[in-house]
Amino acid sequence: MDRTILHFDLDTFFVSVERKNNPLLNGKPVLVGGVGDRGVVAACSYETRGYGVHSGMPMKMARNLCPEAVVIRGEAGVYSKESKNVTEIIRESVPVFEKASIDEFYADLSGMDKFFNCQLMASELRQRIKRETGLPISYGLSVNKLVSKVATGEAKPDNEKRIIQGEEKAFLAPMPVQKIPMVGDKTSQLLYNLGIKYVKTIQDMPMEMMGKVLGKNGIVLWNKANGRDDSPIIPFHERKSISNERTFGKDTGDVHRMREMIRAMAENLAYQLRTGNKLTSCISVKIRYSDFNTFSRQLKIPYTSADHILIPQVERLFDQLYNRRMMVRLVGVNFSDLVTGNYQINLFDDSEERLNLYQAMDYIRNRYGTDKRGNSILSWGTTLGIPNIASMGNPFNGEPPIIPAHRNA
Ligand SMILES: [Mg+2]
Repeated sequence: MDRTILHFDLDTFFVSVERKNNPLLNGKPVLVGGVGDRGVVAACSYETRGYGVHSGMPMKMARNLCPEAVVIRGEAGVYSKESKNVTEIIRESVPVFEKASIDEFYADLSGMDKFFNCQLMASELRQRIKRETGLPISYGLSVNKLVSKVATGEAKPDNEKRIIQGEEKAFLAPMPVQKIPMVGDKTSQLLYNLGIKYVKTIQDMPMEMMGKVLGKNGIVLWNKANGRDDSPIIPFHERKSISNERTFGKDTGDVHRMREMIRAMAENLAYQLRTGNKLTSCISVKIRYSDFNTFSRQLKIPYTSADHILIPQVERLFDQLYNRRMMVRLVGVNFSDLVTGNYQINLFDDSEERLNLYQAMDYIRNRYGTDKRGNSILSWGTTLGIPNIASMGNPFNGEPPIIPAHRNA
């Protein structure tokens, strides 16, 4: 069946939110990110691009490249609220949609062209989002997610682009290879070394040759270069909290064991948050004693999904809660008040190295996540029998992967 897929992306989202709240920033170069010495750029306005600034680079370097830029420390809670407003408008307007990141959405309009003009509908929806939220947004419309995403990138800023069915290949042909969403620095370097600079060159190669050169990824890349992508829209569902609890086989008074257990649970839950592109702002710990009396204690914190922030807080809550006079039957950890957000935006003041470490560890968990017994190999939970999470895939159905591989503004 022919499909009609709409892709929305808010333009320089964090910057736009800051400008909405402070119009004096309009037209000025703006950097959002870590203001500390080791912080990284989470978002940058178009005015900074000419200086070679891009998101993910150390803030120090960005400041050197563009000294006149206004630097703002972002707030995940503010961005999440704005993202939610946009989500609600889209939810009201289309039958099925996927929230691909805090500022990016796909909607499946397949079959609707019989009844509506999909392009007109998309344009009206874009105008409504702009009117009601005050945030610039762009869209791409085509037969699949890939081509629509690329079309959005071409439409930006604050515009729209439709690729007529059958034009996908011609649309992509003149573009540099790194415009294909899966092509990062490494792959594009590899392709450059092979003399492949433009998508057209890949289109003109036999699929088998790409497979020989790049393996399985080569085949995927060849299909994308040719504008083929049958990946489905994953419907968005909200989840307000995640939790984990464990009843001991035999009631215990072993504090060390209990602390290890809640530590492992916190670590697993934090990983789930990152996998689902979620942040929490409320953590709670529960203890059930052998007499079945149950106590819990909770704490509000700034939005995060970082182990090194969450685990010590969970341990502190446990220490405050635990009454040593009785044996314990069950312990549990719960993260609630969840919002959508990339964990990078709350690690502003962490160094690039720490961000890279999180990404690398989560990558390994995703890839090699389980041992023979189905436990996560990179977790405290391994030895403690905490249910494996790596094999569960994304716990937030409809939520995106940890880091968008190839972000538009
Ligand atoms: Mg964006």
